[in-house]
Amino acid sequence: MKLNRMIYQNILDNMYEGVYILDLNLKIRYWSKGAEGLSGFKASEVIGTSCSENILMHTDKKGQRLCGTSSCVAARVLKVKSIQKDEIFLNHKKGHRLLVVTRAFPAYDLKGRLTGVVEIFSNMSTQVMLDNKTKELQKFAMVDSLTGVSNRRYLEMQLESRLERLRRYKWPFSVFFIDIDGFKKINDTFGHDAGDKVLKVVAGTLQQGIRSYDLLSRWGGEEFVISIENINKEDMNVMGNKLCRLVSSSYIREKDDNIQVTISVGATLAGKEDTIDSLVKRADTLMYRCKARGGNCLEEG
Ligand code: GH3
Ligand code: MG
Ligand code: MG
Repeated sequence: MKLNRMIYQNILDNMYEGVYILDLNLKIRYWSKGAEGLSGFKASEVIGTSCSENILMHTDKKGQRLCGTSSCVAARVLKVKSIQKDEIFLNHKKGHRLLVVTRAFPAYDLKGRLTGVVEIFSNMSTQVMLDNKTKELQKFAMVDSLTGVSNRRYLEMQLESRLERLRRYKWPFSVFFIDIDGFKKINDTFGHDAGDKVLKVVAGTLQQGIRSYDLLSRWGGEEFVISIENINKEDMNVMGNKLCRLVSSSYIREKDDNIQVTISVGATLAGKEDTIDSLVKRADTLMYRCKARGGNCLEEG
C-alpha cells in the first residue's frame, strides 16, 4: 500500500501530540489539530508567525526565555542537524503556562536539502506531577521499594488528613481494599521472582486505572489500598469494576507461560464517625465477601 499525502495528513491530525513545522527562519508553516488542542491556539493564529514574536513564549523549566536565543530547541536543531529533546513551558491561549516535553528534528526535502524543523510536543504535567511526587516520597521512606507506589505509612497519614477534611468540610472520599486472588499459588507454581513481577504489574495497572490525584498504596503482601476523593456510590461501582477488568486483562510472560491474575475489591465511602481502622476494616470485610463469591469482583458497602 502506498501512503499518500492525505493519509499522512490524517495521521498528523489525529495524533494527541502537537506537531508543527518551522521553516529555516523559524516561522511556523504547519500546526496540527493536536497542537491546537494542547495550546488552545488555532492554526490560523500561529501560522506565519515566528517563535521570537512570542505567541508561545517558550521558556525553560527555570522560566528563562528560549525564543530568539541559541537555547531555542528549533535553533539547536538547525545548528547541530540532529534530534533535540527538552522539557519546556509554553503559553496556553487561556494564559496559563503549560509544561510540555518536546522533540525536534531537521526536515529535509526530496533532494536532501534542509528545509526546516519539525517539533512534536505533548503535555507532561500529569507525568511530571507523578514523578515529582514519587521522588518527594522516596526522600521520606514512604515508597514501597518493590512496586514504586506509596507505602502503608504514607497512606495512613493521608487517610488521617482526608478524614479530617471530611469532618470539617464534608469532602467525600472512598477506600478500596484490593487483594490478589490465589497469589500464593503463583509463587508456588512460578517462583517468588515471578510473584514479584506480578505484584509490579498489578501495581502499574492499578496506577493507570486511577486519576493522578487518587492515592494508591501497597498495604502489604499482595494487598493494595486506594483512596479516592470526590466520588459517589455510582462512580465507586464504575471504578471498582474497571480495576477488576484492567487487572484480569493484564499478564506477564514467564518462560512459556502467560501468568494472569484477578483481584477482589471491597469499596466503601468514608463516614464522619470513621477512624482509619474502621474504614479499612470495612473495606477489607467487603473484599472477603468477594473471595467468598470466587474473587474477580467488587463488593460495595
Ligand atoms: P486469596 O485468594 O484468599 O487471597 O489467597 P492468596 O494465596 O492470594 O493469599 P495468601 O494470604 O494465602 O497468600 C499471600 C501470599 O503472598 C503469601 C506470601 O508468601 C506472598 N507474598 C507476600 N509478599 C510477597 C512479596 O513481596 N513477593 C512475593 N513474591 N510474594 C509475596
Ligand atoms: Mg491477602
Ligand atoms: Mg490474596
